[in-house]
Amino acid sequence: MLTKLIQPPSFLAAALLAWYPRHRRDLPWRHTRDPYAIWLSEVILQQTRVAQGLPYYETFLAAYPTVQDLAAAPETEVLRYWQGLGYYSRARNMHLTAQQVVREYNGLFPGTYAGLLQLRGVGPYTAAAIASFAYDEAVAVLDGNVYRVLARIFGLHADIAAPSSRKEFQALADQHIPATAPADFNQAIMEFGAIQCTPAKPDCLFCPLQSQCWAFQHGQVALLPVKSKAKASRIRYFHYFVLRHGEHTYLRERREKDIWQGLYDFAMTETTVPELPAAELLRHLEALGAQLDLRQVAEPTPAYRHILSHQKLEARFHPLALAQPLPATTLRDLGLRAYSADEIEALPKPKLIANYCSQHL
Ligand code: SF4
Repeated sequence: MLTKLIQPPSFLAAALLAWYPRHRRDLPWRHTRDPYAIWLSEVILQQTRVAQGLPYYETFLAAYPTVQDLAAAPETEVLRYWQGLGYYSRARNMHLTAQQVVREYNGLFPGTYAGLLQLRGVGPYTAAAIASFAYDEAVAVLDGNVYRVLARIFGLHADIAAPSSRKEFQALADQHIPATAPADFNQAIMEFGAIQCTPAKPDCLFCPLQSQCWAFQHGQVALLPVKSKAKASRIRYFHYFVLRHGEHTYLRERREKDIWQGLYDFAMTETTVPELPAAELLRHLEALGAQLDLRQVAEPTPAYRHILSHQKLEARFHPLALAQPLPATTLRDLGLRAYSADEIEALPKPKLIANYCSQHL
């Protein structure tokens, strides 16, 4: 640590620290040293664009100004605020981590990188971000932007999708992070990747690192970083039964270990082909004990499409008016409950369901 303190910044640190003040975006989480607020921003920004994440950050901080507030909130409310961001397990884990901080750490985030790693769901990236931004600890962050910048500047050809590459990139980044300005270095290298050294069209012409950049000097900018293809996504066909009785609609909380755990949707079935044959639909309705009001039977909707990281969803909604409420056994077996429109609005729902509800309920 002492040698780091007296060493001049590396060429990379010097260039990034000069570039950063002139190009940085003014983002609210860059004005705080509060580990809770920094953690919140990092959880929200994982796999989310800054423009999309910003209003969520502000909403969460306004609703839950402290980790104690977040820990004490009902999960349903946390998921409702999260609605539209996707990856709902992140919201559930965030909530559980807040409870852990309150329960096991007296409401105070651990004060070191190693301590932060002990928290549920906090990995090396988030721990490094909090440790450097809140506590000035010299540990380098590694996200997609940083991998790309390092791979190009240093000509690293290791597959960044392979976990085994992390060590090599981490060692390199740690070698360059200056003990005197770790927070700015981490912000700078991520911002440089987001604005200057972008995936598709990096601005090499006006890049301060052009003469030291291996990829530029060797004409390999478009080839780096090396990243193996993610596995192909599978298509799933969902058929939703939007069962309504009077002004109420039946929904249930998704409890199964699948996407959208803890969110609310309708009774449904899944098929391997796009259409649900009429006989199959009738069989399901019979099993539900649903007595239809045949005067009000409507056509199913066209497909609503939704893309997740490894799945493509095609959902069709069957609006079905009931002549009688659903039997109590069906409600119990499927966890269904009748909700008014206002109650449905307050429930956390997958975006696909929220879209349907806003158009049809
Ligand atoms: S020269 Fe181009 S590829 Fe190299 S660091 Fe600069 S922007 Fe990135």
